[in-house]
Amino acid sequence: MICREFNDNIIEYAAGRLPADQSARMQAHAATCAQCAAIDREERELRRQFRAMAPIGECPDLWPQLAARLQPPAPRPSFFPRVWAFGGAFAACAAACLALLSFNLTRPGPVPSGPVVSAAEERRIVAKVSETREMASAESEAMFDRIENSRDRERVILLGGGGQ
Ligand SMILES: [Zn+2]
Repeated sequence: MICREFNDNIIEYAAGRLPADQSARMQAHAATCAQCAAIDREERELRRQFRAMAPIGECPDLWPQLAARLQPPAPRPSFFPRVWAFGGAFAACAAACLALLSFNLTRPGPVPSGPVVSAAEERRIVAKVSETREMASAESEAMFDRIENSRDRERVILLGGGGQ
């Protein structure tokens, strides 16, 4: 017998449920193999301890005790139940709002017919835009090794003497 076969049958062997010839082979292996003999002792000790345990008494049903200690739930201000009471109408309204919103988001805004800023403001804006310089994008700037070779550019207003 090899150790694996001994291990496969140790539970039945320790319980005395193996046929006599197989039980004799198990006993013979344990007599020559210290490792399997130790496993045999552990299994028999475990069985002894299980038998020595006090029997488990009646298992009480915990639910009645638990239910007696539970507080009834406090009434909560109910917005959602009323909303859900009109669930169909609510869903239709939500769908309509969503459709309207997506329509308005995709539609271009109205084109202004007249000037949107005064002439003075327009001159100031044009001056600011003309002061912008192209440079590596701020995101690329964080990558110091790539900044000079970066093709990501953005226009920035350089504040200083000309940025009044
Ligand atoms: Zn063995």
